[in-house]
Amino acid sequence: MSKVTEKFVDINSMNLKKGELVKEVEELCGENLFGCYQCGTCSAGCPFVDDMDLSPDEVIRYVILDRKEVLNSKTIWLCAACYTCAERCPRNINITKIMEALRQIILRKNIDRTLLTKIAKEEKETIPQLAFVCLFRKNVG
Ligand code: SF4
Ligand code: SF4
Repeated sequence: MSKVTEKFVDINSMNLKKGELVKEVEELCGENLFGCYQCGTCSAGCPFVDDMDLSPDEVIRYVILDRKEVLNSKTIWLCAACYTCAERCPRNINITKIMEALRQIILRKNIDRTLLTKIAKEEKETIPQLAFVCLFRKNVG
């Protein structure tokens, strides 16, 4: 059973070819996902793993297995691009770039993760400007 319970995107309407998720991710990030031997080092050092529905090593496994529900995983948006995982991977796989590739697959379909209209007025007044800049760079296509 999948650990991904969120239904943020309608995967069926994204025109993703069967069995080609890994190819698309590899083309976008330039990493060889099949080099991963699932040691879990990336997940062990990730500062946000406790809040993720899939750990970073599980994200890689889902992509390899063409489990497209990975695109509905909270993990790819929670990733702070801190590069800890990439620094520690014994196979020199840049997981940070893989997370970005997965976000790009969604954003390039003109699907925004964050809508300004959904942020409450009170929050808009208290959230630092820098946070808004980061948010829109990462979550808006
Ligand atoms: S650290 Fe590298 S080899 Fe180990 S599970 Fe993560 S991506 Fe795979
Ligand atoms: S880059 Fe993302 S996945 Fe990797 S350790 Fe940092 S937050 Fe976790």
